[in-house]
Amino acid sequence: MSGSGVNLAGCASCEGRCCREYAVNVTVGDVRRLAAGMALHPREFVTLKAKKDGDFRFRPGGPLFDMRLRHRPGTEGCVFLMEIAPGHARCGAYAHRPRVCANFPAALKGNTVSIRDDTLCGGSDSWNLTAMDLPALRANLLRNRAAWREHLRIAEEWNARVDQGWRTLSEDAFYEFILSSDKQGTGSRGVDGPVPAPA
Ligand code: SF4
Ligand code: SF4
Repeated sequence: MSGSGVNLAGCASCEGRCCREYAVNVTVGDVRRLAAGMALHPREFVTLKAKKDGDFRFRPGGPLFDMRLRHRPGTEGCVFLMEIAPGHARCGAYAHRPRVCANFPAALKGNTVSIRDDTLCGGSDSWNLTAMDLPALRANLLRNRAAWREHLRIAEEWNARVDQGWRTLSEDAFYEFILSSDKQGTGSRGVDGPVPAPA
């Protein structure tokens, strides 16, 4: 993938399994960064997935949805995955990619940087943690944690707005709200962000 590490599995020669097989949940901050950096509307790269424990609703008391990166039907890869040669692929949004992609395969267990148990290219021993820039990685993982806190605060604001009304609010209104949400300050709620899960 395009993550943080030095791995024995060899991202450089990999066809990007993780970018094809994971469903990548994204934060409001990820969506704002990708929209600005890639000059795209969120509709072009986000899909809303109904989930019992999702974050956003569109009608009062209605079902909840999470935001995920879209996949292309043909390649079954993330919309940003570029096929550069048979068996080789690269992230086309590298500088703006979601934080979870940039930090992959690292995760915080408590406050300790570790390798996730669910990588698609061998176990955690496929990765050489000692060769990684651990202070930088830890700082990025903490930034991701803060981004999920902001994301949940914005979800609460959006859902309150929906619940105060009596009708379904549109996807366009939702994206307009989240794209302008960086002007609305940040809150805090102590959670770690969702991690990619097999699609
Ligand atoms: S599946 Fe593993 S080796 Fe392949 S790109 Fe993703 S992280 Fe790298
Ligand atoms: S944004 Fe880039 S690194 Fe993340 S899943 Fe898509 S192609 Fe892979």
